[in-house]
Amino acid sequence: MSASTMGSGPNMGSGTDLTPKVHRFEAIVVGGGGAGLYAALALSKEKVQTAVLSKLYPSRSHTGAAQGGIGAALANVEDDNPEWHMYDTVKGSDFLADQDAVELMCNEAVETVYELEHLGLPFNRTADGKIDQRKFGGHTKDHGKGPVKRACFSADRTGHMILQTLYQQCIKNEVDFFDEFHVMDLILKDGVCRGVVAYEINNGSLHIFHAKAVLFATGGSGRMFKITSNAHALTGDGMAVALRRGVPLEDMEFFQFHPTGIYKMGILLSEACRGEGGIIRNGKGERFMERYAPTIKDLAPRDIVSRCIHQEVLEGRGVNGKDYVHLDLTHLGAEVIEKKLPDISDFVRTYMGIDPVKDLIPIQPTAHYAMGGIPANKDSEVVGDENNTVVKGFYAAGECACVSVHGANRLGTNSLVDILVFGRRAGLSMAKYCRSNDFAALPANADEEVKAQIDRLRSNSGEERTLTLRSDLQASMTDNCGVYRTEGTLKKALSDIAVFKSRFSKLHVSDRSQVFNTDLLDAMELCNLIDLARVTVEAALARQESRGAHYREDFQKRDDAKWLKHSLASLSNGKVDLKYKPVVMGKFPLQERKY
Ligand SMILES: Cc1cc2nc3c(=O)[nH]c(=O)nc-3n(C[C@H](O)[C@H](O)[C@H](O)COP(=O)(O)OP(=O)(O)OC[C@H]3O[C@@H](n4cnc5c(N)ncnc54)[C@H](O)[C@@H]3O)c2cc1C
Repeated sequence: MSASTMGSGPNMGSGTDLTPKVHRFEAIVVGGGGAGLYAALALSKEKVQTAVLSKLYPSRSHTGAAQGGIGAALANVEDDNPEWHMYDTVKGSDFLADQDAVELMCNEAVETVYELEHLGLPFNRTADGKIDQRKFGGHTKDHGKGPVKRACFSADRTGHMILQTLYQQCIKNEVDFFDEFHVMDLILKDGVCRGVVAYEINNGSLHIFHAKAVLFATGGSGRMFKITSNAHALTGDGMAVALRRGVPLEDMEFFQFHPTGIYKMGILLSEACRGEGGIIRNGKGERFMERYAPTIKDLAPRDIVSRCIHQEVLEGRGVNGKDYVHLDLTHLGAEVIEKKLPDISDFVRTYMGIDPVKDLIPIQPTAHYAMGGIPANKDSEVVGDENNTVVKGFYAAGECACVSVHGANRLGTNSLVDILVFGRRAGLSMAKYCRSNDFAALPANADEEVKAQIDRLRSNSGEERTLTLRSDLQASMTDNCGVYRTEGTLKKALSDIAVFKSRFSKLHVSDRSQVFNTDLLDAMELCNLIDLARVTVEAALARQESRGAHYREDFQKRDDAKWLKHSLASLSNGKVDLKYKPVVMGKFPLQERKY
């Protein structure tokens, strides 16, 4: 599809002389992961002139790292239905998810999986040729009566297959791709979105993309933490840009820690390991989850299992008195391990030098998933305040968005469902918007702030280095805003962040070149992480209760009377302002969360 392009060619001059190139597309999708690609595919089918901008080559997006599966109540292997899926999702969310959005997601999950099948995704099959399904944490039959096989999968490379399938379909439909374009700003004026400003990594030039509709599908922000399963690029750029442009972020205090990260490295060993029958053992060899969640044991939701691991360690039952436990796959046998968990086995052999067929695997919780993000409604339109006022022309989907279908804790396999269901819906609602709206005028000097930021970073002669500052931020967040939090640790994190912010102003970018200047990019990403850490900690400090992934040792109970509400954190002039909006309840009333 043709783009209209104006302005000078890529500017290769000094940092202060960046003349932007201007492009015009009806729809801009920022992010080439599952959410972005499904949106782009839907837009291209609606014949909307669309470009995807991605700082990574699209097939390197984190969706490609998703291992275990995508949840949909197909009932191919045993009895199941979308209503049970809804129940599990709402209960898993500790009742913070909006039930109307959950209902829509669980219903549309089924047709989405079949659509992926028809697009060519090679799912594992049952003996009679149907899409195979396996168990996953928190997914149960008949409202909690025991685990159910609901996760559709392609060995332990489900996300890889999704990404490849969608990418090839987008190429077939002639979607334009701007690979290795780093989006730095959103052009938003008088409540109407008009495009984005991007930095071309290959040559350091600036680009303005003028558009009717913009989708942020920029993924997660796990790089805020030291031990994380998230790829290096997951620095929450889209969330931070929206925040700086005045869109409050929703439920940022809820960050998921996945129980089975490789010890000290954080690399994920999918919940599929436990879905296939793997168990977790403490230093005494006990299957301790039997004590905490007698019905579904090791397949309890992630927030619960992570806390139980922490508890075992605190009570001295870590392995060799240390801060880790074991994942035991040895009883599964070589065939299941090699056929259904091939990548996991590879990771364990490569990174730990041990054999999962014979050896116990050292694990600890790893920062995994942002439940919070840019507030969006069921049509993926961004909503900019506590009254759900739509920001015209601005959309968000995938991990960077908060619809909210995961509430305080996401169930395994529900992110792939979320990114696809709401990615596609974003594409369809953007198409509708593009048909009935003209291009809003571009403001003069739309790239002014980006230029100023780049100049500041390039000309700074301070002593600070990005790597050191980033490691300090990650360590403080893991120590003070991790699986367990208290007022004391959160206040410590806040005072650390204030210091990091001032150290950031002395950051020295030593690489002055224009070509693949990763030093500069790292600095821009660090700026995003610091702002996101700030709102995460402020929202966590304010929430005086424990719910889902947010566990306050000083307020250990869920407090529905005071806290059954979504937080909205905005940041302006260095101050965080917190507002709240109600949770959409539905057919599932509040209950104690027992498994
Ligand atoms: C190891 C691992 C395993 C997982 N396994 C599962 C699983 O089995 N099931 C499940 O449901 N979920 C799983 N998840 C979670 C799930 O994979 C992610 O939440 C989901 O894939 C996110 O998709 P996305 O499209 O929102 O973002 P991503 O796939 O992360 O893509 C983000 C895109 O945004 C682009 N981008 C970011 N910033 C910028 C910028 N500034 N400018 C331009 N482009 C930008 C990137 O280039 C990238 O293309 C897993 C996650 C991890 C880390």
